[in-house]
Amino acid sequence: MLKTGAQHLESLRDGRVVYIGGERVHDVTTHPAFRHAARTFAALYDAKRAPENLDVLSFEEDGERYSAYFLPAKSKDDLAFRSAAHRKIADLTYGMFGRSPDHVSSFVTGMITRPDVFGRFAGNIQAYHRHLRETDSYAVYAIIAPQAGRQPEFYRERNLPLPTLQVVREDDDGVVVSGMKMLATGAVFANEIWIGNIMPLAPDQAAQSITCAIPCNAPGLSLWSRKPFELDASREFDNPLAYRFDESDSMVLCDEVKVPWERVFVHNDAALARKIYVETAGHCYGNHQSNVRYWAKMQLLVGLASKIAQSSGADDNPKVRETLGRLAAMEATLGGMIMGQIQGAESWPDGYVTFNRRFMYAALNWCTENYSSIIDIIRELCGGSVFQMPADSSIFDDPSLTRTFETFWTTPQSSAVDRMKLFKLAWEVVGSEFAGRHLQYEKFYAGAPFVVRNYNFMHAPWAEFHEVVDGLLDSYGVTGKLARVA
Ligand SMILES: Cc1cc2nc3c(=O)[nH]c(=O)nc-3n(C[C@H](O)[C@H](O)[C@H](O)COP(=O)(O)OP(=O)(O)OC[C@H]3O[C@@H](n4cnc5c(N)ncnc54)[C@H](O)[C@@H]3O)c2cc1C
Repeated sequence: MLKTGAQHLESLRDGRVVYIGGERVHDVTTHPAFRHAARTFAALYDAKRAPENLDVLSFEEDGERYSAYFLPAKSKDDLAFRSAAHRKIADLTYGMFGRSPDHVSSFVTGMITRPDVFGRFAGNIQAYHRHLRETDSYAVYAIIAPQAGRQPEFYRERNLPLPTLQVVREDDDGVVVSGMKMLATGAVFANEIWIGNIMPLAPDQAAQSITCAIPCNAPGLSLWSRKPFELDASREFDNPLAYRFDESDSMVLCDEVKVPWERVFVHNDAALARKIYVETAGHCYGNHQSNVRYWAKMQLLVGLASKIAQSSGADDNPKVRETLGRLAAMEATLGGMIMGQIQGAESWPDGYVTFNRRFMYAALNWCTENYSSIIDIIRELCGGSVFQMPADSSIFDDPSLTRTFETFWTTPQSSAVDRMKLFKLAWEVVGSEFAGRHLQYEKFYAGAPFVVRNYNFMHAPWAEFHEVVDGLLDSYGVTGKLARVA
């Protein structure tokens, strides 16, 4: 079933507990902190059902249509289909929704290509995949232990409960969990939260290994939102991104939340808690989406850089053209890395295929390393233009101020209004709180940079590399004469 936007909005009015500071939010679809972003999520659902998108964003199986990202791939064509769907979704949000509904769903879909990894919970992960695709649900995740819980001795010595989410009780019908997890992007707009552990756990952390799915309105669950940027974005003209593309980030707090057994995927197994991501196609499918989403954002950034240069008339300057050429090369580099993941697909057991993992992790590293410098290039192109603009668009409420503004701010390249519009957007990308959050997001969404590099280390064919070195070393001897020709 493909959900409508209206059905998605309705599904968010479910009594979930959301806090903005000390304020309890009762309806995220109407609250001024979230209402526009909620509609952007709804629009993604409607876009999927539009006749022109149907074959890009969904597939048919046994007479029923499902969202494209629920398709486990059996061929390169399937991978290309998945990739194109991610691209379409990312284009609809200009790459601003990192955890759009195709992110965690892709993890789950990748996982069902190797259900055996889940051992006794293999049937649960398959059933969960069916549940998500049949209800067209939006799942997000919180798979990092909170920083507060990383020094257990502090809590033990004081006889305090550990803040990290863990199983506190087992009943006949499920487990009960309490504690906190970070950082569920999109959770206030989602239907379900996947709880888990992407970082390795020590053997004595078995209770924390719980991996499960919890509805966002589960009794005992609360979402503690960071400052929502939409709140201060009263006019779209002034904050065009914060106005409708703030996907939100929340800490997830559970106080004795009941999880039925059928939604448990790992329990009391510290090693397995991480294995399910890296020994299935889960992490690879999910982070391919991240790569594609970033690529869509790159097009906005490169286009914006060029328009900023045009606006100041600097676009003819050879140095500025070189800068734009460099940005264009970066955008194309990422595109090539994404295409390579499909071209170099890996075969998996049972006829499944996955994106090339080394190329995917290389792209992930590339994205993490380069975002700050890309933004800095755009910042330099902006010069002081962003601060030459009036504080906000309320000047247009006054005809006399509007006339003055048009007289003094118009340039040979563009009208005063167009310049203001462009530079308000530029500030949302390089300098506003929204921009700052995106800088942080692009650095950390897949883990700290050393973690991303570790994935690249793990998957590198070191034996092959060593063989090349050994081949060269073996091809000459100590005398300097060729000792042996292979
Ligand atoms: C905007 C945003 C959205 C996010 N969305 C999600 C989400 O949807 N779901 C989710 O589960 N998580 C999400 N995260 C959390 C993200 O996964 C974590 O921020 C990330 O894993 C890093 O963990 P940390 O923040 O605890 O930083 P830390 O691990 O504490 O790292 C902080 C700094 O210390 C350095 N450091 C720490 N330990 C070492 C070490 N051993 N060696 C070298 N350097 C070290 C790191 O490199 C980093 O610079 C999000 C984060 C952000 C910022």
